[in-house]
Amino acid sequence: MAKKIDGKAISAAVRQDLAKEVEQLKAAGTTPGLAVIIVGDDPASRVYVNNKKKGCAEIGIYSEEIALPADTTQEELLAHVEALNTREDIDGILCQLPLPSHLDDKAVIAAIAPHKDVDAFHAANVGHIMIGDYSFLPCTPAGVMELLHRSGISVEGKECVVIGRSNIVGKPMAMLLLHENATVTMCHSRTRELKEVCRRADVIVAAVGKAAFVTPDMVKPGAVVIDVGMNRNAEGKLCGDVDPAVDEVASYLTPVPGGVGPMTIAMLLKNTVTAARRRAKQAKN
Ligand code: NAP
Repeated sequence: MAKKIDGKAISAAVRQDLAKEVEQLKAAGTTPGLAVIIVGDDPASRVYVNNKKKGCAEIGIYSEEIALPADTTQEELLAHVEALNTREDIDGILCQLPLPSHLDDKAVIAAIAPHKDVDAFHAANVGHIMIGDYSFLPCTPAGVMELLHRSGISVEGKECVVIGRSNIVGKPMAMLLLHENATVTMCHSRTRELKEVCRRADVIVAAVGKAAFVTPDMVKPGAVVIDVGMNRNAEGKLCGDVDPAVDEVASYLTPVPGGVGPMTIAMLLKNTVTAARRRAKQAKN
């Protein structure tokens, strides 16, 4: 049986560390602030936004929700972003995706001031991640790295296979592993011999979006398997991209729920605290 990497417990430990940092910042006169824009009434987005606000409240970060109707125009949305860009008390801005289809999410991300882009989606921050000189961490991949670090797992010199090449998970995930000296292979829907490629891996990160996609025959005995997937099975139950039977083959495995999921918000809070620390430093100089 694989050892479980407990994302809930690790996320709680990260948040506890952040709460202390927030306390120190507040004592020195800076309250970290996060603004969350939500457009329309997508129920999943509502749950994510509520969780982010709750996460802020728990560690003392000020959060502000800007809830806009589904028929908000691009100009109106951009005007909100612009106003937040200039607000002294707001360190981080995020716009909950997906947006209604008439809105251009790329233009919205591009309009967020890079130093307030706590999701690290802005091209400037993506570039910083690429060159390994970054202050904002891409939340989900950074959460994966934190799980590995706090579980004492080094990727140095190891074969790591990332399945999925999205801009928010797969690509930045590969970069963070590379920065820690892993030998990284990125796989996607056109990859040939996926099973053989995966079987070489010491570490597999699955970010595909398909339930039970990674099966035991794809995993080398003793490999570390990180499951980023968040899918619903036929009964509507939350499940990952990894077949639960992989538990018999892997050395470490992240559960779903309770693995990578709780880390993503913890990393968002970390980015907000980083931005507030930078503001406090600038105010001093
Ligand atoms: P995405 O944008 O849909 O990307 C999925 C990736 O999987 C694509 O690169 C796709 O390849 C690849 N893929 C699809 N079918 C494949 C196949 N048969 N063989 C190999 N690769 C295949 O998804 P995402 O946004 O990265 O999210 C992935 C999963 O992570 C989802 O379940 C999502 O809900 C979850 N997620 C979780 C968190 C969290 O906080 N835990 C955060 C973000 C996402 P192509 O590029 O060739 O199409």
